[in-house]
Amino acid sequence: MEIDELIEIAKKSVVNCYAPYSKFHVVSVLEAEENLFFVGVNVENVSFGLTVCAERIAVFKAVSEGYKEFSKILIYSPDGMPYPCGSCRQVLAEFCGKSFPIYIASNREIKVFTLGELLPHTFSL
Ligand SMILES: [Zn+2]
Repeated sequence: MEIDELIEIAKKSVVNCYAPYSKFHVVSVLEAEENLFFVGVNVENVSFGLTVCAERIAVFKAVSEGYKEFSKILIYSPDGMPYPCGSCRQVLAEFCGKSFPIYIASNREIKVFTLGELLPHTFSL
C-alpha cells in the first residue's frame, strides 16, 4: 500500500490509543503483504513499566497470526514525531533486515529510515 493509505489507516486508529498519562498517541501500521497490515496503538499502564508501544503491539499481533515477514512499517502520531524506542527497534530487528523501511510521521512531516540506520548494531546470539 502507498504510505498515504497507511497514514489514513493510522489516523483512524488514533482513537484506540490508550495514553492517559503521556498524552502522546502513537499508531503503527505494519504491512505484511499487499493489502494485509496489522495496526498497533500504544497502551499505557499506571505502572509505567508495563506500557507497551504501538510498534511492538503491531509486531506481536502479526506474529501471533502467523506472519513473520514484513515489507514496511509506519509509525504515526498526531502529537509529534514518534521515533521508535530502543526496545521496538530490537523487536523489529528480530523479523526485519537492515534495509527494512521505517516511516515516521506526524501531521507536519514524514521521514523514512532503514532499520539499519536506526539500529546499526543489533543484539544477536
Ligand atoms: Zn517502543
